[in-house]
Amino acid sequence: MSKILIIEDEESIAELEKDYLELSGFSVEIENNGDGGLTRALEEKFDLLILDLMLPGVDGFEICKRVRKVKNTPILMVSAKKEDIDKIRGLGLGADDYITKPFSPSELVARVKAHLARYERLIGSGIQENEIIEIRGLKIDKTARRVYINGEEKTFTTKEFDLLTFLAQNPNHVFTKEELFSRIWDMESVGDIATVTVHIKKIREKIEFNTSKPQYIETIWGVGYRFKV
Ligand code: CA
Repeated sequence: MSKILIIEDEESIAELEKDYLELSGFSVEIENNGDGGLTRALEEKFDLLILDLMLPGVDGFEICKRVRKVKNTPILMVSAKKEDIDKIRGLGLGADDYITKPFSPSELVARVKAHLARYERLIGSGIQENEIIEIRGLKIDKTARRVYINGEEKTFTTKEFDLLTFLAQNPNHVFTKEELFSRIWDMESVGDIATVTVHIKKIREKIEFNTSKPQYIETIWGVGYRFKV
């Protein structure tokens, strides 16, 4: 059964949407504020989101943007103002559809069904959810090439990202600087293994709470580095 999250602060509208969707066989949950809605949309697995624009706490624009960064879940945005819909389209936040209040419940149900069908075809066609490595508070989205530490995104250069990802994919394995250099930089004789040290230092500054007591990348004196799990 498809699971839908409605993020809507007007209780009567949320309940109406829920009733109609449940009658059509969907499992529906409601969050009536932006913060709760954002958290659930990010942490739980829903098949579709119905997202109101104006919400207490985080607004619909921000929720759409943040969810889209990490998930492909269809997002149907709802607004009371036609101008807002035009604005959202213009911003390119990645919503799949827009609907203006007041709308007929049957129209909403029809759109939800259409988006779920499209999404299922997409999943079925082999386009996968992003490949993600999560270790304690560190999250590496390999598909989007983004790194988050306790939910906050950190900017990584290409080589820093490749190095961190390589180590995290091979936990508890000690690599020498030479090995890391040849794997990540792919230039056998050119370059300097000190580059590895410099990159490890930069990565630690981004992901470690205390760089002198690293929780993720450990220095094995005289040998190299190891990713701790
Ligand atoms: Ca609202």
